[in-house]
Amino acid sequence: MYLHVPFCKVKCLYCDFYSMPAGEETKDAYARALCRAIDAADPLCDTVYFGGGTPSQLGTVRLTAILAHIRRTADCEVTVECNPGDAAALDFRALAAAGVNRISMGLQSADDAERRALGRRSDAATVRRAVEQVQTAGIANLSLDLMLGIPGQTAESLARSIDFCLALDVPHVSAYLLKVEDGTPFAAMQEQLALPQEDAVCDFYLQTVDALAAAGLRQYEISNFARPGCESRHNLKYWRCEAYLGLGPAAHSFLDGKRFYYPRDLQAFLDGTPPIPDGPGGDPEEWLMLRLRLMEGVTDAAFAARFGAGLPDAFWETAARFARQGLMTVADGCAALTPTGCLLSNQIIGALLQTVAQA
Ligand code: SF4
Repeated sequence: MYLHVPFCKVKCLYCDFYSMPAGEETKDAYARALCRAIDAADPLCDTVYFGGGTPSQLGTVRLTAILAHIRRTADCEVTVECNPGDAAALDFRALAAAGVNRISMGLQSADDAERRALGRRSDAATVRRAVEQVQTAGIANLSLDLMLGIPGQTAESLARSIDFCLALDVPHVSAYLLKVEDGTPFAAMQEQLALPQEDAVCDFYLQTVDALAAAGLRQYEISNFARPGCESRHNLKYWRCEAYLGLGPAAHSFLDGKRFYYPRDLQAFLDGTPPIPDGPGGDPEEWLMLRLRLMEGVTDAAFAARFGAGLPDAFWETAARFARQGLMTVADGCAALTPTGCLLSNQIIGALLQTVAQA
């Protein structure tokens, strides 16, 4: 189950997620609306993910109240995305007692000038205190987000941000390339942004893959790195094209072979407006597109198990061509992107999908 929390105290300059500032009454009303939607669906969940927006803006009491409505398996992974600036006001022991066993926190950069350039509201010291607070509460499964391609970022400043994560001994890091999205303040000021050159950002990415691997955080998805066993079980469901229910404005679902979503409209969700159908999902192209993001790659056997026949010869011929260029590995009926291939994932995956569409 994915729960979208559309509240942020301050909007970061690069962000186009659906979120806004909200008062206590709105947050109360939203928590009640989420509980009604959970009760109506009432699935048994093996992963729960509070994403946003800023779920930590709901506070301990609302988060635990919402969790109490969710039927969960004994080993359910429960993640809460947390803004470091909210941590001091949260009771992580109470959250842990309620079942939260994974925290994801936005670091983006350990360089305060880079953090300010992104419009982040707290400094690196606040992030460090927040991580230590989570760890002291007994939640060891912690992820930090890094951003690559920040205005003013250099290989040296990135190395310091990676070292910051490693020094805190977090078992999971997500590293995303900054994308200037239409309609954001960054888009309006793009000319003035000292964005690193594209080649430099590619080097940043490979630097991140190498540095995290050297520290035992294995790349398992294009943007995600973890110690073995600490991969995000929830996010793996998306990439493995498994079922999930998303609740809240802007949340998407894939259930019983169908996709549907709630529009980016808080009031509509508060009013109980049902989600919008978005057609069938999980066809071979979509399955491949998602699976190829994973370093475990795609296998003929897994494709055949899902769709009744193996991948076409043209798929393997194209994958072999990319392998000769160092962009993929192909062995024992398994094809996967290399880190360099990840940088060209759109083009590579597009070419591979064509082979399936034309088969
Ligand atoms: S905290 Fe996250 S969701 Fe909120 S504005 Fe910043 S990047 Fe966007």
